[in-house]
Amino acid sequence: MKKILLLGSTGSIGVNSLNVIREYPEKFSVSVLTANNNIDILKKQIEEFHPERVVVVDKDKAEELKTSLKIKCDVLSGKDALCQVAANSDYDILLGAVVGFSGLAPTIEAIKRGKRIALANKETLVVAGEFIKNLLKEYNAELIPVDSEHSAIFQCLMGEKKGQVEKLIITASGGPFLKTDKEKFSSITVKEALNHPNWNMGNKITIDSATMMNKGLEVIEAKWLFGFEEKNIDVLIHPQSIIHSMVQFVDGSIKAQLGYPDMRLPIQFALTYPERFKNDLGRTDMPKLKELTFYEPDFNKYECLKLAYQVLKEGGTTPCVLNAANEIAVSRFLKEEIKFSDISRFIKEALNKFENVSKPNIETIFEYDRLTRGYVLSL
Ligand code: NDP
Ligand code: MG
Repeated sequence: MKKILLLGSTGSIGVNSLNVIREYPEKFSVSVLTANNNIDILKKQIEEFHPERVVVVDKDKAEELKTSLKIKCDVLSGKDALCQVAANSDYDILLGAVVGFSGLAPTIEAIKRGKRIALANKETLVVAGEFIKNLLKEYNAELIPVDSEHSAIFQCLMGEKKGQVEKLIITASGGPFLKTDKEKFSSITVKEALNHPNWNMGNKITIDSATMMNKGLEVIEAKWLFGFEEKNIDVLIHPQSIIHSMVQFVDGSIKAQLGYPDMRLPIQFALTYPERFKNDLGRTDMPKLKELTFYEPDFNKYECLKLAYQVLKEGGTTPCVLNAANEIAVSRFLKEEIKFSDISRFIKEALNKFENVSKPNIETIFEYDRLTRGYVLSL
């Protein structure tokens, strides 16, 4: 029986994770759940999964939950509580499903305890990839990707030698604006940008998919997970999202992982690896797939993707600045304060504003995150 600490249980990945956990009551139990403020969903989850502790970051909402709970469960609150539960709760696997930079600090605590990290929160690796990689080694902890592309690559690499890999090919749906001209980007509405063709996800990653920043973040994530340079990581548009990513080897052979777009599969694999558990998820009906198509990405149209490759090359604090600028710009777009086309513009301005620090320590990363947020809020 593996005990799970689920960071961000009320989000899209969080709910899908509990859908997986529910199927295997003899294999998994939930020891901790966390939410930012959505206590209505969290309360139902507590009643079903009986965690020992929960975190509600918002203090008022935490008080509200405490007074309405009928079953025994510790309720913690405040920003530091995520780190606290990661540092001192009883669990085997930390499933990182919070969105954004807030996932970094608790992930560090879990690694320091040598836990398995099942990581959906890609921002952690984007901002502090090198630090996390070294920490995993130092504490002998393992990190298994949940992001579907990285789960696909992880599966394609099983049983292979790293030196025999030529390149990683990360597939991308292209989002809702694959056929929209760049000139129209300034008039795209929030509703249009939230309308993803293939995946149903949280708002932030859905906007990231529309700008293709999501793919940029995934290229950076792939570097730290698998140890390849940017010239060996390609992005390929594949609108059907059936091939989740591929690996090309030195003899020209290509391995791919396929399936319907459903996050329950990569979540399950990150929890059960190296085993595979039988499940009832829909089986891919190949004859019914009319076609699988592929295109090269347009880097001039998708500036966020270009910027992500640029910071991957530059390294240092630039990925952290890119990420923080993107988080703030996306949240401002969602509040209709700025245009869709301002997202990449603000990120560029932030990258110009802050001088790069190479080989930053973790304190510098937290500082650059804070400074960049303030700057992009002021634009
Ligand atoms: P959601 O927005 O749906 O959920 C985010 C979760 O994090 C919620 O539980 C939310 O709580 C909580 N949260 C939000 N802000 C904070 C904060 N400041 N402090 C603590 N908790 C917070 O996001 P997704 O589930 O879509 O994505 C989660 C992560 O997984 C992201 O990093 C994303 O890139 C990655 N990912 C997602 C995929 C998907 O299919 N959705 C696919 C691959 C990767 P509350 O509900 O209370 O607001
Ligand atoms: Mg992905």
